[in-house]
Amino acid sequence: MPLDPETFEALIDTVRRFVAERLRPLEAQVGDEDEVPQEIVREMREMGLFGLSIPEEYGGLGLTMAEEVRVALEFGRTSPAFRSVFGTNVGIGSQGLVMAGTDAQKRAWLPGIASGEVITSFALTEPDAGSDSASVRTRAAADGDVYRLSGTKRFITNADKASLFTVMARTGEAGARGVSAFLVPADLPGVGIGKPERKMGQQGAHVCDVTFDDVPVPVANRLGKEGEGFRIAMRVLDRGRLHIAAVCVGIAERLIADMVAYAAERRQFGKPLADFQLIQAMIADSKTDTMAARALVMDSAGLMDRGSSITLEAAAAKYFASESVGRVADRAVQVFGGAGYVADHGIERLYRDVRLFRIYEGTSQIQQLVIARETIRNGG
Ligand SMILES: Cc1cc2nc3c(=O)[nH]c(=O)nc-3n(C[C@H](O)[C@H](O)[C@H](O)COP(=O)(O)OP(=O)(O)OC[C@H]3O[C@@H](n4cnc5c(N)ncnc54)[C@H](O)[C@@H]3O)c2cc1C
Repeated sequence: MPLDPETFEALIDTVRRFVAERLRPLEAQVGDEDEVPQEIVREMREMGLFGLSIPEEYGGLGLTMAEEVRVALEFGRTSPAFRSVFGTNVGIGSQGLVMAGTDAQKRAWLPGIASGEVITSFALTEPDAGSDSASVRTRAAADGDVYRLSGTKRFITNADKASLFTVMARTGEAGARGVSAFLVPADLPGVGIGKPERKMGQQGAHVCDVTFDDVPVPVANRLGKEGEGFRIAMRVLDRGRLHIAAVCVGIAERLIADMVAYAAERRQFGKPLADFQLIQAMIADSKTDTMAARALVMDSAGLMDRGSSITLEAAAAKYFASESVGRVADRAVQVFGGAGYVADHGIERLYRDVRLFRIYEGTSQIQQLVIARETIRNGG
């Protein structure tokens, strides 16, 4: 059920003000300190952001995908690390449970996820299984009423804050059909969390290794049937890719606004930069890229809300939006000139931040493979 339009517009208004007044002034601090202040996390909880996509009956806001991408767009207008605070709860960390969980599993976990008391992470990637994610080696061996879970997961967003992991592990044959999904509480014996990695951008959002050393995971914590884990993970990623594409559009819109403001104010050769046609070309290309990305995102979200599979659409939206925000960020540095390269205006930080979008939740090459596979399968 969508929220009534007035309530939804009030939410968007609140988010827009929160981003402009609370988050944007903190961008440089979070970039330097690699930590989002606890006070901001608390305010996000109070706004209900951790539960945007969690059904209302479990304490969330139950937004439709079309509504969720509008919120994601607004969060694109600031450092993407802020969105990551609640991003895994709204997306990859919770949606396996929403899509495939039993009533009992949902009742046990979703209210805490929706309120933000429970932070969730999605643990698919391993040291030897990245793009080839169906080759995961983390093993879950059945042993009475538990599975014994052993293995290492890599680059897991929010792992250092998580109290619940959705873990894809091998229970059977090689390949996708031998993978099952599990809800793994972080306080089970044998769960280890590595130190946050130092990264190129998105400081304030942490990724760590997660190790499982003979962890006894109750059979009751399996999501779906044995062998369904990979399919669940891919459905979760379809949705996640659309959300990420929306964030890319929001950042591109922010960068265009920054470019235009700077080009209007900065003068060379006796005129504002905005008067030079070569600058205008960069603005025009950025605007066109971003309008096209926005249209892809909104169209795909609508399709999903009408019950269609969006594997192709989500891959196309994520591919195009992440590549295009990369081009926009590059042009923004160019329009700002030296000021774009030094840290004061924050353009170089966003340039580094957006690079990740072409890598995680499936690289651009993987999106191309998915788009081609689906297009060929559908006969064009
Ligand atoms: C900051 C960050 C956060 C992340 N968060 C999470 C998370 O929360 N949970 C999680 O499970 N994972 C997470 N990841 C992992 C991420 O999804 C993987 O890094 C990504 O899927 C790519 O895998 P890889 O790094 O092993 O690269 P590889 O798979 O080794 O790829 C290296 C290069 O080879 C290319 N390539 C690989 N296979 C093919 C092919 N068949 N055809 C053409 N080119 C190919 C890739 O496109 C890429 O360019 C995160 C990663 C980062 C950096």
